[in-house]
Amino acid sequence: MAIIDGKKVSSHIIENITTEVKALKLKTEKSPGLAVILVGDDPASAVYVRNKNKTCTNIGFQSFENILPSDTSELKLLNLIDELNNNQNINGILVQLPLPKHISSYKILEAIKPEKDVDGFHLTNVGRLVTGNAAFKPCTPAGIIQLLDYYNVDLEGKNAVVLGRSNIVGKPVAFLLLEKNATVTICHSRTKDLSTITRQADILIAAIGKPNFVTTDMVKDGSVVIDVGINRVDGKLVGDVDYQLVSPKVSLITPVPGGVGPMTIAMLMANTLQSFKNSLP
Ligand code: NAP
Repeated sequence: MAIIDGKKVSSHIIENITTEVKALKLKTEKSPGLAVILVGDDPASAVYVRNKNKTCTNIGFQSFENILPSDTSELKLLNLIDELNNNQNINGILVQLPLPKHISSYKILEAIKPEKDVDGFHLTNVGRLVTGNAAFKPCTPAGIIQLLDYYNVDLEGKNAVVLGRSNIVGKPVAFLLLEKNATVTICHSRTKDLSTITRQADILIAAIGKPNFVTTDMVKDGSVVIDVGINRVDGKLVGDVDYQLVSPKVSLITPVPGGVGPMTIAMLMANTLQSFKNSLP
């Protein structure tokens, strides 16, 4: 068994972005700008937002933090997005999800200009992804594919099973795997006889949000397992895969933390840099 080291791979990506940003700044006297919006005081979301801002600063991006109270109206949020859409210094807009219940995430995500939608959640960008013409690939799924590429995992003709069908992880990663010519099966909470399906997976992606859900009897010998889950159990972060039991049986596996997580931020920065480059004359 070998560990897929997301920290190492993401550091390489971040290093390359930092170098490119420096060179672009010398040439254009500008640097990429990322606006992050957080509504409410969910502690996990606050940590994510802080980490994104810290990374922005470290790599030479301009960071625009917008922290709003949980009773912010939908209209006020739409007005803020409109302002950010029209701000030339901002190349990427990210709305930290989930939003409070009185605000429609759908409406908010659709209000972001597709060319600044560095999370890849706007319908235009979803359509582009599904048709194999992605402008911005959603960050977590893009990070998973980068990890598989980095570790030379051959996807062509392989059975890839995705556990979870969310719009953020499960569905987009399934399309990216399909683009790489894997044979893809998507499973969800109504899937029957789940372990029979997962045992056929050469590549298993677990994104369900259930701690230690995937056990030894659910994985094939020598397969590649990507654990997207982030679950807090007794103050510790654990994935959707029972790492201790499953890891000896497989050829490659991501740990939690230190696997997919760091890749998500790296991909967000890569998408923002791309948006900045697209905006240059
Ligand atoms: P989500 O929106 O809650 O979706 C969970 C999916 O899992 C749903 O499709 C659900 O099926 C399926 N599911 C739930 N229980 C199941 C079961 N017993 N058997 C089979 N399928 C089951 O979650 P998400 O946003 O995709 O996130 C999934 C996990 O990844 C979470 O732990 C989240 O924190 C983590 N995450 C990590 C990163 C990162 O950067 N590492 C990024 C995003 C998310 P139904 O559709 O039938 O309900």
